[in-house]
Amino acid sequence: MTTKIRTRIAPSPTGFLHLGTARTALYSWAYARHFGGEFVLRIEDTDVARSTQNSVDQILASMQWLGLDYDEGPIYQMQRLSRYKEVLDLLIAKGKAYYCYSTPEELEATREAKRARGEKTLYDGRWRPAPGKTLPHVPDGVQPVVRFCNPVDGEVSWDDLVKGPITINNREIDDLIIVRADGIPTYNFAVVVDDWDMQISHVFRGDEHINNTPWQINIFKALGAPLPLFGHCPVILGDDGQKLSKRRGAVSVTAYEEGGYLPEAMLNYLARLGWSHGDDELFSQEQLVAWFDGSHLNKSPAQWDPAKLLWVNAHYIKQADSNRLAPLVATQLTRLGVKLEPAVVESHLPKVCGLLKDRCDTTIALAHWAAKFYADVTPEASELQQHVTDAVRPSIALLAEKLAACPWDRASIAAAIKEVLAASGLKMPQLAMPVRVLVMGTAQTPSLDAVLELCDREKVILRLKGVGLVGL
Ligand code: GLU
Repeated sequence: MTTKIRTRIAPSPTGFLHLGTARTALYSWAYARHFGGEFVLRIEDTDVARSTQNSVDQILASMQWLGLDYDEGPIYQMQRLSRYKEVLDLLIAKGKAYYCYSTPEELEATREAKRARGEKTLYDGRWRPAPGKTLPHVPDGVQPVVRFCNPVDGEVSWDDLVKGPITINNREIDDLIIVRADGIPTYNFAVVVDDWDMQISHVFRGDEHINNTPWQINIFKALGAPLPLFGHCPVILGDDGQKLSKRRGAVSVTAYEEGGYLPEAMLNYLARLGWSHGDDELFSQEQLVAWFDGSHLNKSPAQWDPAKLLWVNAHYIKQADSNRLAPLVATQLTRLGVKLEPAVVESHLPKVCGLLKDRCDTTIALAHWAAKFYADVTPEASELQQHVTDAVRPSIALLAEKLAACPWDRASIAAAIKEVLAASGLKMPQLAMPVRVLVMGTAQTPSLDAVLELCDREKVILRLKGVGLVGL
């Protein structure tokens, strides 16, 4: 029997979409797409105190930004409480789950005693029913939790899609709480009911969940539900070798979107971080889907490499259509305090992007360059001194005169520059460097005629005359 490939991502809406979750989402999505299956988005919002709508919105926006389209969802766990109750009743009826009235204080006291004896601090089974066993008297006023009757013998084994065969002895794990006193299911129970109901065939997730999987497998078995296959992806480490965390820099997809990265660059970089296809470093979403069959996933943790991500992003910025870059750069310009008219964003900014995109690794870098065309620039005093010498001033003045009169296109500007060079005997850099410093605030720019063509003529002339410049 062939089962339909169905994968899912199940983020908890307690913050932004974390890079690790985004990567697992990407693998789950690519796996489903590769095999013509389906990809489901489930919002695991049973931690009511920490889940927020704002976080849900951010997660959905990040998924959309990355181009991870889903076939079903978002499905909210909090809207499925009656289904969990139904399955719970089934487990209780089968004798696979039971109410536990132990108070937190009692549990802690038992744990303490076990610790003192050097034993594992597993639940002591006080409320677990067994043939011939008399259970304690049900105390008044205590809201019970429900525990799963974990098998006491045997072992749980699965062939992990990433890590290979894993076996855990049932004696190592205890009777987990599956429904809290407030009636809300815990993660390990809700996730099983959902993966079962949603007919998930393959579960890719972070390896922080590896310890949960034996419980989940036991619950699947207790329900007589078919088991999905599991693949646990190792954590992502920061460049200091520690787990990537907020304290060590940006960990959310949103931060990278705001930081001037393109979604295809994030997608490419995230996919490669923990998976490989030969030596390929740069690949499209289509290639990822064509290649991603669940093999070649790394067993060991990947290290986040900001420099490599910048390199990947620079590649995609260079490739991107300038009309697409312009609104992204306009957003970054607004953050820098430079507000452009929509008409400028539509017609002029794309040209600026086209001129500069091959020297920028983020849209923020591109915005810093673009700002030189739309806002005041302040050249360094040392650069002014170095390049704008008395010897070159007359030629700059002559260029200002010629530029005031010539048609404003690249060829005419180039001709004006040539005429000044011929009249003055200066070499191109001797004239171009001071002009760049005066107009753009830096001596390093693309070809001067191309830069000037995109500048406002009046502004160029004023700047060449040194108007508004301190230190001249
Ligand atoms: N809500 C869990 C998390 O965000 C999902 C884990 C799973 O995929 O099973 O870590």
